[in-house]
Amino acid sequence: MIAVVKPGASKQQIDSLLAWFRSRGLKTHVSEGEFQTIIGLVGDTSQVDVDLLEGLEIVESVKRINEPFKRANRKFHPADTAVNIGGVILGGGNFQVIAGPCSVESPEQIVCVAESVQASGARLLRGGAFKPRTSPYDFQGLRAEGIEFLLEARAKTGMPIVTEIMNAAHLPLFEPVDVIQVGARNMQNFELLKELGQLRKPILLKRGFANTLKELLMSAEYIMAEGNENVILCERGIRTFETYTRNTLDLSAVPVLQELSHLPVIIDPSHAIGVSRYVPQMALAAVASGADGILIEVHNDPQNAVCDGAQSLTLEQFAHLSEKMQRIREVIAAR
Ligand code: PEP
Ligand code: MN
Repeated sequence: MIAVVKPGASKQQIDSLLAWFRSRGLKTHVSEGEFQTIIGLVGDTSQVDVDLLEGLEIVESVKRINEPFKRANRKFHPADTAVNIGGVILGGGNFQVIAGPCSVESPEQIVCVAESVQASGARLLRGGAFKPRTSPYDFQGLRAEGIEFLLEARAKTGMPIVTEIMNAAHLPLFEPVDVIQVGARNMQNFELLKELGQLRKPILLKRGFANTLKELLMSAEYIMAEGNENVILCERGIRTFETYTRNTLDLSAVPVLQELSHLPVIIDPSHAIGVSRYVPQMALAAVASGADGILIEVHNDPQNAVCDGAQSLTLEQFAHLSEKMQRIREVIAAR
């Protein structure tokens, strides 16, 4: 349920209304927009008397929210959320490119990729340290050492780093990490999501390959219900009957999620398509769709990458793509 506050209501009036809601066991969430203040209410709102509420001097209107996601709902927070990642703003009109290899392999590799993608326009560096692999016999990531190498690359370039967590027990290792990624396979690891909700660090939440957009928003809600509102939604392809591509990129996620939610929405064309020669076209389509950013795999030597080489762009291919993305950005901005 949301209560829209009349313009001109004083802070004191709003505070006493908040106290009144809380005394009825409801959790409150205040969204102060440029033109409107909205009080979001979570809990058992069935006993709230809407007529009584609408009769209050400072209340303009009251609406029930039928969707099961509340904090992630745009009705709760009409303005776009812009996530601040160590000074790099993502969302709310700020488009960002997160680039880097699937896996961190060595300090030389991650620093080389970081410097190159930065020179091409990426502001955030990705790299997996803990890798969710289908086979237990495949490379599992450099783990704690991988995070150290990412920090080295950050120290050299100043780029904030994005890396995936698989187990809440590893959280102490992620303390210096700028953005914690929750991979597709863990989108519904609810206990992990609750732990991440305790932090105030940005969380990049990927859509599971067999999950609906509503389920993705409910997973974001798990994080936000604990108090962490810094969530970035990521569409990375879903599993369909198609076999020529690794997954099927559901670009329609962008307008739908942006309408339903205030959270930033980014696209990962690399895991969606899985074939490097198709990635640039879909990255451009993602920019044109109005996504708030892209997450893309780039490697200094894709042929010899330990993981996901087939979908990784070379440094040169990424540089070329960046220029084209910039041109599409200009068209979008002029819309
Ligand atoms: C990744 O980003 O390297 C990754 C494993 O992604 P996903 O969870 O989308 O498969
Ligand atoms: Mn990968």
